[in-house]
Amino acid sequence: MAKITLENLAHSYHSKAKSEDDFALKRLNHVWNDGEAYALLGASGCGKSTLLNIISGLLIPSEGRILFDDKDVTHLPTANRNIAQVFQFPVVYDTMSVRDNLAFPLKNRKADSAYIVERVQKIAAMIDMENILDKKARGLGADEKQKISLGRGMVREDVNALLFDEPLTVIDPQMKWQLRTQLKALHNEFGHTMIYVTHDQTEALTFADKVVVMHEGCVVQIGTPQELFEKPEHTFVGYFIGSPGMNILKADIIGNRAIVNGAKILLPQSYEPKASKVEIGIRPEFLSLSSTNGVPVQIERVEDVGRHKIIRANISGIPINILEKEGAEIGSDMNRVIFNPEYINVYADDWRLEGRI
Ligand code: ADP
Ligand code: MG
Repeated sequence: MAKITLENLAHSYHSKAKSEDDFALKRLNHVWNDGEAYALLGASGCGKSTLLNIISGLLIPSEGRILFDDKDVTHLPTANRNIAQVFQFPVVYDTMSVRDNLAFPLKNRKADSAYIVERVQKIAAMIDMENILDKKARGLGADEKQKISLGRGMVREDVNALLFDEPLTVIDPQMKWQLRTQLKALHNEFGHTMIYVTHDQTEALTFADKVVVMHEGCVVQIGTPQELFEKPEHTFVGYFIGSPGMNILKADIIGNRAIVNGAKILLPQSYEPKASKVEIGIRPEFLSLSSTNGVPVQIERVEDVGRHKIIRANISGIPINILEKEGAEIGSDMNRVIFNPEYINVYADDWRLEGRI
């Protein structure tokens, strides 16, 4: 297993990149700690696969270096990087049995045959394929084949890192949950450095110790699920994570007050934003309706979503979402909204500011 360091890494698919916009991956410095489980989260097209393929060696970055521990592997082919990678769609040998597919990476490395038998059995149990080990892969469905790909990715214990690129896309929801749990168990047992790419926040937040959020070719935040929830460093993290995401409201800031469309809102600290775009962000969870206090609000509709009610409302025309508990009574006199100051973040040109007491 290895620590992976990205040093001034950037990538453009254009041979002569002229501007920032030509880069699928903008300049990046980051260390993936040895033995940690990371999720790489972001919308489609933000550069996740590009980054993963650079780590695995399928792609040579146009700028910067990549190190495994202290060794520069930037130009080393995939085969010599000692990593396992699982892709979105199955890569299996159709003419081989499930057993031989799973054993392949071990045989390739000339592992001991008794060990191969034992290891294949263990992995087969993890992916729930013990009963069909002797079937040929050819006759299996896409989800079964993808489970084989996952199994093949997990079969070696001696890899530097395990990379997964949206591996559960073709798997049905129930099995998804089960496989994710298995991957987590595998991580707890062997402590591999794991990078798991997904565009699904639930997957990212349940799988990883740390989530790396990407947006338009940039890493905008690396944090625990709680940090991403409470202190989104960038407005994108605020609205991409959460359901519904964070409310982001244009504001004027004077000391410890924000003024949103004429309404005054108390902030946890004082701020002096120097930016053309100033906003405050607050999650729907930290807003509550009131009949007596807070900022006047107009309720448009109430949606029941299981354990919560989402209240779609507006502050003189500016849309805002409020989350209340499932049993909460929402009376017709509830026409104000209270902001919990502790959970208000202030953003200047999309980046979070630290305030002063
Ligand atoms: P993600 O995995 O997050 O969906 P990708 O890394 O696949 O994103 O793509 C990032 C950007 O690079 C996208 O704009 C995509 O169109 C572009 N891109 C990806 N692969 C290639 C390629 N082989 N040639 C040119 N452009 C590419
Ligand atoms: Mg991708």
